[in-house]
Amino acid sequence: MDRGRQSDLRGEAEARRAGDPGKKGALEPALDGEIAAELNRLLGAEGPASFDFGALERGLREGVLAAAAKILQQVLNADSSDQASADRPCACGRPARFAGRHDKWITTLFGRMRLSRAYYHCTGCGTGFYPRDREWGLEGSALSPGLTRLVGRVAAEVSFGSSSELLRELAGVAVDAKQVERSAEALGEAIARDEREQVLASSPTAGTMYLGLDGTGLPVRPAECAGRPGKQPDGSARTREVKLVQVWTASRPSPEGPVQREAGSVSYSAAVESVACADTERDLSAFAQRVEREAKRRGFDRAARQVVLGDGAAWIWNLVSEVFPRAIQIVDLFHARERLWKVAQERYGPDNELRGVWARRRCEELEAGPVEPVITALQALGGAEAAAAAGYFRNNRHRMRYATFRRMGLGVASGVVEAGCKQVVGARLKRSGMHWTVAGGNAILALRCCLLSGRFEDFWARREQAGNRLIVFSTTDPRAESAGPQGDPESKYVVGGR
Ligand SMILES: [Zn+2]
Repeated sequence: MDRGRQSDLRGEAEARRAGDPGKKGALEPALDGEIAAELNRLLGAEGPASFDFGALERGLREGVLAAAAKILQQVLNADSSDQASADRPCACGRPARFAGRHDKWITTLFGRMRLSRAYYHCTGCGTGFYPRDREWGLEGSALSPGLTRLVGRVAAEVSFGSSSELLRELAGVAVDAKQVERSAEALGEAIARDEREQVLASSPTAGTMYLGLDGTGLPVRPAECAGRPGKQPDGSARTREVKLVQVWTASRPSPEGPVQREAGSVSYSAAVESVACADTERDLSAFAQRVEREAKRRGFDRAARQVVLGDGAAWIWNLVSEVFPRAIQIVDLFHARERLWKVAQERYGPDNELRGVWARRRCEELEAGPVEPVITALQALGGAEAAAAAGYFRNNRHRMRYATFRRMGLGVASGVVEAGCKQVVGARLKRSGMHWTVAGGNAILALRCCLLSGRFEDFWARREQAGNRLIVFSTTDPRAESAGPQGDPESKYVVGGR
């Protein structure tokens, strides 16, 4: 999204925020007095000198947050325009009637507060709804929009448990790990939907643009890979493959130096997603469509020169031939070199100095010109690993003309593709003890890709424009939500709320 449009959206959102509740005027004097009393109590009669600095800071933050929660509660609950009409259309098509106001406990950036909202009930289908919950993204959720954003920001980086600890320490808000998980996944799902629906085409940012494709295993719960073949000794699987597409630009800082990725130019999109399409289907596979969307968003699809980097996996090149028929295909030199070292290791063992001599020699040949001398050397070496590698180099030889590619000014030894999988997937989703559902993993991947690609702000601007309706939580019976702290189904997720 261009910056002008972005600030338009923010402006509209701000205008809306400044709308209804603001018209109610200044705070009631009673509340003003209450806040002053709270701060006086914290500061004490003798003034701040009697306090430990750290204790004073923390205590003041707590008091200010508690006061802010009261203000927010008063401002929000002063507005009862959500009950303005006697009935509203129900999803079933019949009218739902206003049936009183109900309170719900929610957690905001300032802690817990009680929110009063109008309830509409439809006798036709026996269900009901809270218009305000829909408007503010609170259906099935007990976290305010501001806190949901914060939760998403933290949970994209660290585990749900660590997120809960960081939120308490850094923001002074109690949200337990289970609630972090629920909210972060609902947000991730909303971001994933937004990614599919919002594909704003842009112009290429460079004459030559790069696209990388790779896959890496995501550790999943047993039910998510039941019956699938895998790498375990008994032939079963413990992982599902995350497929990642990256787009970036590169340049050569000095005329003789290597081609380097331009800092900040890389964007990511990833999911556990199929690359296979039934023969009868004319649509692209789910992942191929993801690749197409990312290419369009970045202008890769219209770049004068398209370069695709990947390892030797067949699915990558099948997809590239189908989606980008004019792209220059390159096996990432990083992967090719890795393959030669693996053969050397297999043949000579880790301690034999011939291992390094052989591998370095082959790598030099590989970069000097045609691949044929490497294939000949592999065939001469003998052994299953070398024979398999000879096939790999033969099949990919047109993708390994490294000397030619370099003369064309192309980057070949990026390591970007490899690093992308580690950064997007490994650093957050492959920590020890983590086992994901596919849906949960995909939600966090969507959240992470959005952040790492610098698109988090755009998402929130669109979300505010849509009145926070982009996030859809799994809804519980709305009447059950209104019973206050004891009967509130969300309250079990909140530790020590005020
Ligand atoms: Zn109905």
